[in-house]
Amino acid sequence: MSKEEKDTKITINETKEVDDYSGERKAGRVLPISIIGLFATCYYIFVVELCIFTVQLLEAKVTFLVIFHLLFLLCVWCYLRTIMTPPAVPPAKFRLSESDKQLYLSDERPQVLQEILIRAAKDLPIYTKDPKGDVRYCTTCQVLKPDRCHHCPVCNVCILKLDHHCVFLNNCVGFSNYKFFLLGLMYGALLFIFTSEVSLCCSILFWTHQLPNSPSQVPIIVLFCLSTFFAITLVRLFLDHFELAVRNITDLEDYDSTEEFDPYNLSISKNLREVFGNEKKYWLLPIFNSLGDGFTFPIGDATEDIEKNAAFAKPPNEGI
Ligand SMILES: [Zn+2]
Ligand SMILES: [Zn+2]
Repeated sequence: MSKEEKDTKITINETKEVDDYSGERKAGRVLPISIIGLFATCYYIFVVELCIFTVQLLEAKVTFLVIFHLLFLLCVWCYLRTIMTPPAVPPAKFRLSESDKQLYLSDERPQVLQEILIRAAKDLPIYTKDPKGDVRYCTTCQVLKPDRCHHCPVCNVCILKLDHHCVFLNNCVGFSNYKFFLLGLMYGALLFIFTSEVSLCCSILFWTHQLPNSPSQVPIIVLFCLSTFFAITLVRLFLDHFELAVRNITDLEDYDSTEEFDPYNLSISKNLREVFGNEKKYWLLPIFNSLGDGFTFPIGDATEDIEKNAAFAKPPNEGI
């Protein structure tokens, strides 16, 4: 196959991917706006209808407003950091040199292509191989894939330590924003648990006629329903993802893993420090201080005795 034919083949594949994931891209543009709209609705009902119009006691009013705003600001800060942080991509050293790229494009024999990749990967910290035992290479991004790096077909780019693509964020969750994502889920869960409890108490006071009927009654019941739904959803999501962080395994690795083997599992404390950093004062703030560079990862004691190439030979879901 000539170079031109090979280029055309790659372009056709890319076009197919764009069409396959256009639904996710469209949803990704609408869903974040819907989430912000729902957040704004909850904010209005809690602050205006509940705290200002309904709660009579000044001490209760101030306490509710302070706790709510503290959690709300942390939640919005984490959410914005998660959606606005660009995903980390493999550094330039994982790209083929111009001469290797030309060689790669001018041949189609799998064995020759593998030899080019093996030679290019020789001095790079790459241990993960595809199921056939070959070096992983993304033809779309034209990079050798570092360990735990995967191509996101929606963003159409290779992302370091890819966890998953989230349509609610219109962004990938990976090495660069995983800490913000986890903290966002935690503060979101706390915010809606608090909102749900306070709005439930107010609703009970309305039902038992300890509060006089008012136009705020219906919005507060709506707030209770919305915040209870969000609280249950976010608590579940947070617990699921926190459990994965404790095991140092990404959502993608967990989804595809058929055996109980986590090569990157160090210890609970070390695994959490990989995400939240070493400095305790930043643990609960959406400030990036995750450990490492996103393309090399310490391996656990259980893995040390095993030949690395064999241990990492089965990466998750090569489709992305
Ligand atoms: Zn790629
Ligand atoms: Zn993505």
